[in-house]
Amino acid sequence: MSTVHSRKAHEFLQDSEKITRHDKTFYGVREKRDVQAFALPEWEDLREHASQIKRHTATHLADYLEKFSKNLESRGVIVHWAENDNEFNEIVLGILKEHNAKKLVKSKSMLTEECEMNPYLEKNGIDVVETDLGERIIQLMGQKPSHIVMPALHITRHAIGEEFERRGISKEIGNHDPTYLTRCARYHLRDNFMDADAGLTGCNFGVAETGDVVVCTNEGNADMSTSMPKLHIVAMGIEKLVPDYRSLAVFQRLLCRCGTGQPTTTYTSHFRQARPGAEMHVVLVDNGRSNIIANDEHFETIKCIRCGACMNTCPVYRRSTGYSYTYFIPGPIGVNLGMLKDPRKYADNVSACSLCLSCSNVCPAKIDLGEQIYRWRQQLDSFGRANPVKKLMSQGMSFVFNHPMVYNTALSMAPMANVMPRFLMYNDSLNAWGMGHEMMVFPKESFQTLWKKGKVR
Ligand code: SF4
Repeated sequence: MSTVHSRKAHEFLQDSEKITRHDKTFYGVREKRDVQAFALPEWEDLREHASQIKRHTATHLADYLEKFSKNLESRGVIVHWAENDNEFNEIVLGILKEHNAKKLVKSKSMLTEECEMNPYLEKNGIDVVETDLGERIIQLMGQKPSHIVMPALHITRHAIGEEFERRGISKEIGNHDPTYLTRCARYHLRDNFMDADAGLTGCNFGVAETGDVVVCTNEGNADMSTSMPKLHIVAMGIEKLVPDYRSLAVFQRLLCRCGTGQPTTTYTSHFRQARPGAEMHVVLVDNGRSNIIANDEHFETIKCIRCGACMNTCPVYRRSTGYSYTYFIPGPIGVNLGMLKDPRKYADNVSACSLCLSCSNVCPAKIDLGEQIYRWRQQLDSFGRANPVKKLMSQGMSFVFNHPMVYNTALSMAPMANVMPRFLMYNDSLNAWGMGHEMMVFPKESFQTLWKKGKVR
């Protein structure tokens, strides 16, 4: 019985050119990350600090949230609290309506994806324009992000060029030069910045001691989104807090090196208050984060800084794309976050792991991603999502291994598999494992038989 992930991955694997490009592109980012990491002798210390800071902050979150919000409020910023996605969407819509805002420009925010904010606002008459180039491309194409940092990296420049031509964003038909297309996108976005009523940004880090909202981008679009319109809304998960500037410095050194292999992002913007004549709102969102903090087995996932490094290194992600996963965040962290959101709904994704643990090794916050996926697999039966064929096979194997006579008989019959017809041995419904593997050729005599005959010493 195949999972949704394996079926979608299988479809993707039919196009060998696409799969090679996808694999190489993301592995290239992983290699760039390695260059940056190996250049810093203190790399492992940084990871350890990051892990401990996140653990400390999450276990003292109420105090830090209070400090953070008070600091913001003392400078006139309006702070809102959203328990879940619905509340978040309603708050944002309420702020926009209060200001009679019809057009919202937004920089990248995975939290707004998580809350499905765009469709909600659009249903309520708001024109939402993504301003991160990758996000804008997939918005125009009607797609979802396939990666949390590089959402459109799976799309070729030719496909982007054709989309721009169709929409009149680029005028030179057939010119798919990336610099030309970027320039066209810049003009197209500039017009949107100019006539937007409000700007929304995500938040990479919130500094509790000072009340800074820190946003890291490579395109400066967060700054454009907040410096043109008179209304700035920040969408921020409560786990984004760090205690102070010293802690922020640790993450600043890790985030971009892990995410894109650059020493730092081109823009690191600190928003502390609204500019004169403008208004700033910060919406702090829980949406299940408190439950993760209270979960002893999966607490570690709260430490994620959404750098995407675990996806870039994951051999399954690279060879199956983000669209094979059923949760909106793909890759190792997405598998875990999906299970924490709804284990029955997202159980298919736990099979998307080779347990190589490369993700755990690259994660800047030292999250034990692979180990957690392994734990979820062991629990699948407890919430009724174990694969019935695998379950039956495990029970069968347990019986065989616990009964030496049955085991020896099975061993003597094993060479029969060598002459079984291929359609039986490599049939998806009988042997899904055989889809990607050639069976070994069983020797005529087992090691045990040879040992008994004195043929091995
Ligand atoms: S789990 Fe770790 S590697 Fe993956 S996105 Fe989060 S911080 Fe980055």
